Amino acid sequence: MDFKFRLGTVIYFGKDCLKINSDELVNIGNKALIVTGKSSAKLSGALDDVIEILRKNNITYEIFDRVENNPSVENVAEGSKIARSFGAEFIIGIGGGSPLDAAKAIAVLCTNDIDPSELFTNIFKNKMLPVICVPTTAGTGSEVTPYSILTKKDISSKKSFGNDETFPHKSFLDPTYTESMSYDLTVSTAADTLSHAIEGYLTKRSTPVSDILALEVLKIFGESIGRLTENKIDYELRERLLYIAMLGGIVISQSGTTIVHGMGYSLTYFKGVPHGYANGVLLKEFLRFNYDYAKNKIDNILKIMGIKSIDDFGKMIDTLFKRKISVNDDEIKTFSEILMKHPSISTNARKVKFDDVMKLFSESLRG
Ligand code: NAP
Ligand code: FE
Repeated sequence: MDFKFRLGTVIYFGKDCLKINSDELVNIGNKALIVTGKSSAKLSGALDDVIEILRKNNITYEIFDRVENNPSVENVAEGSKIARSFGAEFIIGIGGGSPLDAAKAIAVLCTNDIDPSELFTNIFKNKMLPVICVPTTAGTGSEVTPYSILTKKDISSKKSFGNDETFPHKSFLDPTYTESMSYDLTVSTAADTLSHAIEGYLTKRSTPVSDILALEVLKIFGESIGRLTENKIDYELRERLLYIAMLGGIVISQSGTTIVHGMGYSLTYFKGVPHGYANGVLLKEFLRFNYDYAKNKIDNILKIMGIKSIDDFGKMIDTLFKRKISVNDDEIKTFSEILMKHPSISTNARKVKFDDVMKLFSESLRG
């Protein structure tokens, strides 16, 4: 039982948690840069709530609302220039994983005179600006992880940075802000949570504490499948989805993810598949591939989710995530070559060879 457990974020969870705990936004700084995507911060109601608190407390702010989905290194560099010229003293990320990850990168670039490509060295001389996160999706758990995952065009993929100092300072998790998500976005982001729990539980870097949390995610996810499939998504289910997204984030803060995420990055980069779906479609074959090497754990996953077999797990995924992704042989080869260079390859329970990856892609996407 040799492990490290790290957490760095104060979490407020529940309806109106931002308004109720508005004092927690005061005394961090006098100038805030709000980091968001194009429209969802507003649509969810979170942006208005944040602005109201800032105004009441005479905290000046600027808004950088140009965060792309799956933000690139260039995109966060642009945000950091704006933050620096404004003189931001703290950063508030509002949105899905993309704005929250961008907020962390901007916070590091504001206090460190480094080229944005050096973010991935994970060595930062100065502490980053404090980051406040307000999630509007329920999936990435970015609001409680130290990671920032950025699109890196030179490797045609995504790469993450993060160390013990890059956790968000405080996060406000109000399920109400996720109510404006479409059904597809709800399901796709929930698939990300599922993937975090399964990968976090099966990776070589899993820990006893993260395993407990991963199993709790899987139990609650299992209980929610019926309502998700039938599109009966009420506030209580939104609350559960945000709760397990947060737990999943704590899991991967300890364990990291593994090849499902590594493989999914290609589906996002080359085929535009949303992050959660990209992971979801790969999970069944991932379980099959690892079964003989992690039999007890995979049996536990199925049992706690109330699913009889890996085949039935696959049926559940097919019902929930109907999206079809078409890929040709050349693409599968390219994606597999990229994965073989990705760090996730070393953390999978079973040793991964190039032919295995080709097969995993092929069977996941072509049946
Ligand atoms: P996202 O890329 O942040 O957002 C996807 C889309 O959903 C955007 O168009 C966004 O609109 C919209 N949206 C967000 N909240 C909404 C709401 N409440 N109502 C309606 N639309 C809404 O999606 P995500 O899946 O949450 O995040 C994916 C990113 O997180 C990826 O880059 C992934 O690599 C990263 N990630 C990070 C971690 C981590 O530990 N840091 C873990 C897993 C994944 P706007 O553009 O207007 O905002
Ligand atoms: Fe993820």
